[in-house]
Amino acid sequence: MPERLAITGFILLATVVWVRRAAMLYGLLGLGSPDDRRPRHWGRKLKQQAVVVLGQRKLLQWTVPGVMHALVFWGFLVLLTTIVEAFGAIYQDGFHLPLIGRWGPLGLLQDAFIVAVLVGLVMAVAIRKLQRPGRFKGSHLREADLILGAIAGIMATVLLSRAVQIALGLLPYDTRWTPVSDGVAAPFEGLAAAPLVALDTLFLWMHALLILGFLVYLTYSKHLHIVTAAINVLFTSERPKGALRPMHLDVENMSEDTVLGAGVVTDLTWKQLLDLYTCTECGRCQSQCPAWATGKPLSPKLLIMDLRDGLFAAGPELLAAKKKGPEAWAAAVAELPALNPDIVEDEVVWDCTTCGACVQACPVNIEHIDTIVDMRRNLVMSESRFPKEMQSALQNLETSGNPWGQPAGARLEWTKGGRQQASLDIPHISEAPDAEVLLWVGCAGAFDDRNKKVTYDFARLLQIAGLSFAILGPDEVCNGDPARRVGAEYIYQMLAEQNIEQLHSHEVKKIVTACPHCFNTIANEYPQFGGVFEVVHHTELLAQLVREGRLRASRPMGKKVTYHDPCYNARHNDVWKGAREVITSIPEADYGELHRHGHSTFCCGAGGARMWMEERMGKRMNIERTDEAIASASDTVAVGCPFCNIMLSDGITERHADSDIAVRDVAQLLLESVEEGDPPAQSAEKFSK
Ligand code: SF4
Ligand code: SF4
Repeated sequence: MPERLAITGFILLATVVWVRRAAMLYGLLGLGSPDDRRPRHWGRKLKQQAVVVLGQRKLLQWTVPGVMHALVFWGFLVLLTTIVEAFGAIYQDGFHLPLIGRWGPLGLLQDAFIVAVLVGLVMAVAIRKLQRPGRFKGSHLREADLILGAIAGIMATVLLSRAVQIALGLLPYDTRWTPVSDGVAAPFEGLAAAPLVALDTLFLWMHALLILGFLVYLTYSKHLHIVTAAINVLFTSERPKGALRPMHLDVENMSEDTVLGAGVVTDLTWKQLLDLYTCTECGRCQSQCPAWATGKPLSPKLLIMDLRDGLFAAGPELLAAKKKGPEAWAAAVAELPALNPDIVEDEVVWDCTTCGACVQACPVNIEHIDTIVDMRRNLVMSESRFPKEMQSALQNLETSGNPWGQPAGARLEWTKGGRQQASLDIPHISEAPDAEVLLWVGCAGAFDDRNKKVTYDFARLLQIAGLSFAILGPDEVCNGDPARRVGAEYIYQMLAEQNIEQLHSHEVKKIVTACPHCFNTIANEYPQFGGVFEVVHHTELLAQLVREGRLRASRPMGKKVTYHDPCYNARHNDVWKGAREVITSIPEADYGELHRHGHSTFCCGAGGARMWMEERMGKRMNIERTDEAIASASDTVAVGCPFCNIMLSDGITERHADSDIAVRDVAQLLLESVEEGDPPAQSAEKFSK
């Protein structure tokens, strides 16, 4: 009886502490800004829970740490049954679970997963103490040690408790099904009943108290993710991966009090705050971040941890102020430290290339990019604070419709070709309304000399394939990607609306572009403004034309070639097969992958408007990637993005002493190998004005 009272007291105490803490954490979420996301596609959501949470798929992207975590996670799911059995045994001698509590296979499963968790623990200790990967730098390591110790204690006590119960003949399972527990029971077999009963009580109590302590402690530690991870995954954005969080700009009703982006912690949405609770501090994002890898202050993990510290520091006062009323709330919010630079230094926010490596690596689906861009939006639109070199690019976007500040008429320069080439006569979409596809040239493809050649070569391939296409020419303006990603949402929306209007006015349905940024923005973000178009990246279209036999690569390449995947293709849009298909269709193209490729590609350093900013700290990202290309001993590094083309070409120029590797767009490689003939009559007709 006293035992039952005591355990009831402990359970009640733990429940009170847990519920109070959980209520506080829930209250803090309520301080965030609204986010109307709700799980809409339940079939997809259930699959996500099954794959990401139960199946641990993202964790298993990394085999050893993934297996380690999966063993512990799956172990705890199974061992929930032993926890119920332990508490039940304190309340009632001979307790067993209803229906399945004497079923041998359950006893075997429990034994197996006790071992699995212990194996997982050994792996965790080996990773943390022997391997010591850099991804843990900055994580709360003592907290992790404490949790590992608690789990070891929980496993030891459940095993000892089962062993003593076997010796007492109380284990509800036939011992033939519990070989591990039975093995541990051997030393206890000869003991008298009294000490065995005492040991049984001791182990059961130790086990129960460790469980209660663990449950309470996790709400105060990074292990809060045990509670929030599944919820965070449930509320994962249903937007396309490459699309940023939409921002409603009501310019007419703006006042001084209008919040643009995230300036203080309460400007973050409740989902962004939930992200902060859910971070496990595993450092996978940090290890994949090109900024961190090249010595910049940005670590997506530390960013999340700093924001979490900021939330917890301000949280209690904010909750108290909210209770007092609107005036107290407004006063408390006015006193909040600025997210930048008080909680996160500005440099951290500007270092991000929005490459998506962090989001992809994160096992609990934290969405770092939205948070970073929201902080940028505040810095740019509310504070007018951004790297000074960005100023001219933004001005050019606003006044000329492109970051280069070129006149609209110059958008046709590329059609003239080089010295040995004939001018191309490409119709404006208004002259060829029945064109199969609109070629979206993009600013880099129109104004950057290196990329003008790519546009020319790609257009030649389309002509050779007999595909009818047209352009917007001077009516095209920048898709807006650099403006949106730097945080200048109002410039982005102006450009997006202008383009959508043009495309709608010509009833454009299908677009092809050689720029992954144009591709991503038009395909994934223009729908936020009513612009829904079928968009295809040029590598995919070329692959299709090769497959259909409309383009035949016949001239042998005779070179070793590799391919650098653009982040906005491979990671944000799962577009990476076409480029390989095209390259490998070229005779004697000796193709090999870079170490980091496909979804794991390494950013060239130009995304997130970084193209227009100086890279002052650490190693330059383009040099890091160039070094990897040089190490591959390839003759040619193929690219599928005008910005990657610029960044890698610059990198090769800088490393000229070490390598004469060539940087070529996939379209250029293909054109060099395609046997040119006259364009088919049908297309010649369509191309003439
Ligand atoms: S998007 Fe890329 S650069 Fe930005 S924080 Fe994530 S990994 Fe780092
Ligand atoms: S943000 Fe995600 S990947 Fe990064 S440390 Fe936290 S849980 Fe790990």
